[in-house]
Amino acid sequence: MSCPPPRRSLSMRAGVGIAAAALLTAVPAYTEIASADSGLTASDGALDRPVSPFGEGHPAVDNLDPDLREAIRHAATDARRDGVEVLINSGWRSRSHQQHLLDEAVAEDGPEEAARRVNTPDRSTHVTGKAIDVGPQRADRWLQRNGAAYGLCQVYANEIWHFELTTVPGRPCPPQLPDASAG
Ligand SMILES: [Zn+2]
Repeated sequence: MSCPPPRRSLSMRAGVGIAAAALLTAVPAYTEIASADSGLTASDGALDRPVSPFGEGHPAVDNLDPDLREAIRHAATDARRDGVEVLINSGWRSRSHQQHLLDEAVAEDGPEEAARRVNTPDRSTHVTGKAIDVGPQRADRWLQRNGAAYGLCQVYANEIWHFELTTVPGRPCPPQLPDASAG
């Protein structure tokens, strides 16, 4: 038989649909960066452009937990050998910075949706210096594959850029939470 039965082509089409849907959910449009007119300054941890994890003089990087900063620097050094540049889009944030992001998200999408992607200042690990948002997307993918070797794990399934030290280097990452409103 040279022609595949029709049922097979139907199921293949369904497969393509599922793959496309998975791709859409895997590439979120939103990143946790305050708008330029926010009034926030570098002393709040605001960054007007992505910075190297080796950069100094940025409170967003300087105020990170030292272990986290060390881990991302180590990872960035090894990623560079693979031709991947690792940058930090957001790191430590002041409480007012975090509150501003939350307010913006609530204004855009309402409180329920906002809670899925922006934590309150009391809950946010950015405020304690224990979280980084990494970019560009190639770097996120690299960390998804290799981050556990440095203790770095993606925490929320809907934020491919948000990494924290949640495992012992070399051990597997814990299961991801669905979004920031969980856990
Ligand atoms: Zn984050």
